[in-house]
Formats: sequence, structure tokens, C-alpha cells
Amino acid sequence: MFVAETLMPALTELKNEYEKAKADPVFWETFAYDLKHYVGRPSPVYYAKRWSEHLGGAQIYLKREDLNHTGAHKVNNTIGQALLAQRMGKKRVIAETGAGQHGVASATVAARFNMECVVYMGAEDIKRQAPNVYRMKLLGATVVPVESGTKTLKDALNEAMRDWVTNVDHTFYILGTAAGPHPYPMIVRDFQTIIGREAITQMQEMIGRQPDIVTACVGGGSNAIGLFYPYVNEQNVRMVGIEAGGRGIQTGQHAAPINEGKVGVLHGARSYLMQDEHGQIATTHSVSAGLDYPGVGPEHSYLKDIGRVEYEAVTDEEALKAFHDLCHFEGIIPALESSHALAWAAKEAPKHNKDKVILVNLSGRGDKDINTVAQICGITL
Ligand SMILES: *Cc1c(COP(=O)(O)O)cnc(C)c1O
Repeated sequence: MFVAETLMPALTELKNEYEKAKADPVFWETFAYDLKHYVGRPSPVYYAKRWSEHLGGAQIYLKREDLNHTGAHKVNNTIGQALLAQRMGKKRVIAETGAGQHGVASATVAARFNMECVVYMGAEDIKRQAPNVYRMKLLGATVVPVESGTKTLKDALNEAMRDWVTNVDHTFYILGTAAGPHPYPMIVRDFQTIIGREAITQMQEMIGRQPDIVTACVGGGSNAIGLFYPYVNEQNVRMVGIEAGGRGIQTGQHAAPINEGKVGVLHGARSYLMQDEHGQIATTHSVSAGLDYPGVGPEHSYLKDIGRVEYEAVTDEEALKAFHDLCHFEGIIPALESSHALAWAAKEAPKHNKDKVILVNLSGRGDKDINTVAQICGITL
């Protein structure tokens, strides 16, 4: 934890309560009930046969987080944290959001659990993401525009923390990715490991063994750590996290803090971080809003340093190609975030024999991205 003294009581309370919840079987039963009946889990693993044949190498399987209620993996975490809030008797939840996906997932569970919901969102992002702003409002949330800094995600996160410090007696802060101060990276990881735990059972059923490679895109790192963590001790499984290479790492216009490799402190955690020559947070670029964050969860930095997980970057252009290919070959419109992991798998598959298996986490569906893609392709909707 690298936080101001004022945040310590809130974080300590959360840590203590989570430890109790973690040891309580009823908590996990309640979580499992909602994952099954509200989210629609387990999400299937799907064999992308046509795409694999087209690529001509390893077989590609997809973990279909895009089929969850609300269309991505984020809801796994927001349900878990809403249940924690309920346990702690907090009737108000707050959240930060960039593209609006975590805001929507938070507003969704707040409605489900009858809680007041306030979402902090950069004023710049509000302009760019009108449909998600309206979704949050439909779900009953209040969206607060953040006018500080670059008016984007990192500023929204600062503002949410400020609210939390002031209102901690009745407010729970639902953090959206496996980043931020301890215990958040651990809590978010634990809720998202449902992805990897299901995958282990499903791969065993489908092919009688585990994949040779598992891969996922890395923004803050929650979908990736959710898939990777249950595989950490499976030494034969190679793991590759994919960051947003934007216009190319060499251009500086990207969102790939691990690939860039400078250590810093942001939002209460010490991790790899994109910085300028003065150590200030650098501006980021990615075609996918969900990967457009200058930091990354600290556990990914650890997994990189111990050599257990490799981290690569793919460019906007490569991700867009994978986006179109998955549409054409499999009838699945993937999120632009997930398209980064798909793009890496598409480059990797031809290097292997047909008996090798790559499992890609399809973290979300791409309906939210069709305007972005159409615009890039010069199509007016
Ligand atoms: C938010 C988002 C991501 C990036 O967040 P992580 O915490 O790195 O998983 C990836 N995919 C989708 C579909 C998202 O909505």
C-alpha cells in the first residue's frame, strides 16, 4: 500500500472484512449462486475450429467471458465486491470508470442489491462514451464528471478515492481492476479466478488435458490474472499477457507499462508504470478504451519479474485485424480489448504444430466497439 494516512482506516477495515468473508463458506455460496443465476456462468470454452484451420497451426480455444450478463468479465468482480459491501452493511457504492464498462457493471449490481451508486468518470470520457453514460443512468446510478487532470480514468480513480475517505462509514468503493492499493489487487484477483478455475475443468473435459499456452489482454490486469492465477503452478502451461501496443512501442503512443519497464507508484501500488522523463504519468494511447491505463496491477509486475508470465504488446492495427477475422471466421464480434489477445494468438499459432493448444480469454463482446471500428474503417453509421 502506498497511500495517504487518511486512507489507511478504510483499507484496513476492508482487509479485515475480506479475510473474514474469505473464510466464510456462506459468502462463497452466495457468490456462486449469483454467478450462476445472474451472470449465467459457467461461460463456455469454445473451439475456434475454422479460425484455427485458417491460421494453420496450433488449435485455438476461447474462454467466452463475452457471454456473461453485461457482456464482459467485469461483472464477476462487481458482484463479489457488492456482496462484501452488503456484508459490511454499506448502502452506498462508488466506482471509477474510463470507457464506462466498470461503471455499467457497478450500476448493474447496485440495482441488483438495492444500493445507491455513484460513478466517477472523466469529463473527456463522458463525451466519448455517451451510450455507457446513459446505460448507467438507466440502471439508476449517478454519474459525476471529473474535471481535474486529463479528465480521464486516472483522474476519476483519484476522485473516487477522495469520496471514499470522506464517506467510508457508509460507502464501499468498488474498484474495477486488479490494481490500486492492497487489498484490492488480491480481492479482484480472487473474484476473477472463476475464469481460470472453470477453464481448468472445461479443458480437461474437452481435450483431456490443459492448453499449452494461455493468453489474455492486460489493461489493469483483472481478466488476465483471473485466467492465469489458477494456472500459476501448472508448470507446463506457458502464460502470455498482452498489453496495448497502440501505434507501436517505439512511437511512445501505447499503453504497455510492463513492456516499457519503468517502476513507479500510482493509485496506491508500486508497479510498472508509464512515465515521462520527469517521472510524471505519461499520456497513453490505445484503440481500445479498456486498455488505455498507464499502470498495471502489481501482481503482473511480480509475475513478470519472476519470469512466470511473459508480456508482449500488439498494435492497434493487429488488434483490428483480429477483430475482423473473428467476426468472419467464427461469427463472434470480440471486444477490442480481447482482440489484442486474439491478435497475439493469431501470430503465435502458425509457429506450432496442429497438436498444440492455445486458450485465449475472450474478455468481452464487441458490440460496444462497433462505432470505433466503423469510424476507423471510414464508415458512417
Ligand atoms: C475493462 C476491460 C478489459 C481490461 O481490464 P482488465 O482489468 O485488464 O481485464 C479487458 N477486456 C474488456 C472486455 C474490458 O471491458
